[in-house]
Amino acid sequence: MTNFQTDIREYKSITEIESIDGFIPNEPFEKSEYESIIGDYHLTHTVKCCLLKVNSACAKEHNYGFVIRLKNGRATIIGNSCANANFDAATTLQKDMRTFNAAKIRKQKLELIRSSTLAEGEFYKILETADLALRKIQITVSTISRDIGSETARKLREMASTQNNAVQISLSKTKISLNKETKKEEKETTKFNATIGHISGYQIFNPSYWSTLQTSMKKLQESLIAAKAIVENPESFSNAKISSISLKLNEKANLEQLNHKLSEELQAFESNNHLLLSYLTESKSEKINSAQYHLKQEGKLSGKNQAKHLLETFEAEIKAKYNADRITPMSSIYGKSKAFG
Ligand SMILES: [Zn+2]
Repeated sequence: MTNFQTDIREYKSITEIESIDGFIPNEPFEKSEYESIIGDYHLTHTVKCCLLKVNSACAKEHNYGFVIRLKNGRATIIGNSCANANFDAATTLQKDMRTFNAAKIRKQKLELIRSSTLAEGEFYKILETADLALRKIQITVSTISRDIGSETARKLREMASTQNNAVQISLSKTKISLNKETKKEEKETTKFNATIGHISGYQIFNPSYWSTLQTSMKKLQESLIAAKAIVENPESFSNAKISSISLKLNEKANLEQLNHKLSEELQAFESNNHLLLSYLTESKSEKINSAQYHLKQEGKLSGKNQAKHLLETFEAEIKAKYNADRITPMSSIYGKSKAFG
């Protein structure tokens, strides 16, 4: 058996190969002469394969293949495709190639795992950012549910699932005209809806958004713990385990991306005109609560009277903008017929 499990030699130039003890270029060898693998080669220029075919060397040009030791002590080369085409899967060479390749992959993955543990500070920073963002979101969401009300919170969750973030109100305009024949006043009322704004950052109300983040955090934590255990004692871990942990460490990039998306959503929600929340439901009390929340966010006095005054001013502006007399119950929009304050 070769000792390449601990020493994976990879040759990148022909000069390196030529400096191997006992290397003789372009001298054909027979299949039965094979003894062991010294290493593999990946070259920018091709080299001629030395496997004996019929009466001369194969001489096929390869960039990739194996440097091998023969039973007589000589070192020579064989192209990868020639080794595959001319040796059966059960031959020692093919078995050694599989072992070499597996050991090489194991070595690469181990290096990746080792460099990850050396940079564990980066992992902790990303995990901390995620944890902080999640807590900030949980506070915002629970404040909305507790201080404003469950209907508004429900409506925001609905927005997260339907992705329809328009805030609509229903308006009406009444025209009074004199009927020339009957000499009587006639009223004609037109009703219409208007979109008064959009709620941004509503994804923070999406429960699946939270669980995605939590799952990602857990996965990254676990992979980091496993990576440290592997670095401490690599020999006790199988190739498959090493491979799966090195793959799991990729969660770092995923969590980084999630963090970025999350902070964008949170920022977007915080920069909303929170007065719009007053028009998500027909609940009179939640309407005032939302206006109070808006005033609080702006650092202003946030009593009930201030909230009512703010809503009156806001609605006067809307009526003027749309040339309407009234803001009417929103049953047509929200499917409820409760009176709208
Ligand atoms: Zn060949």
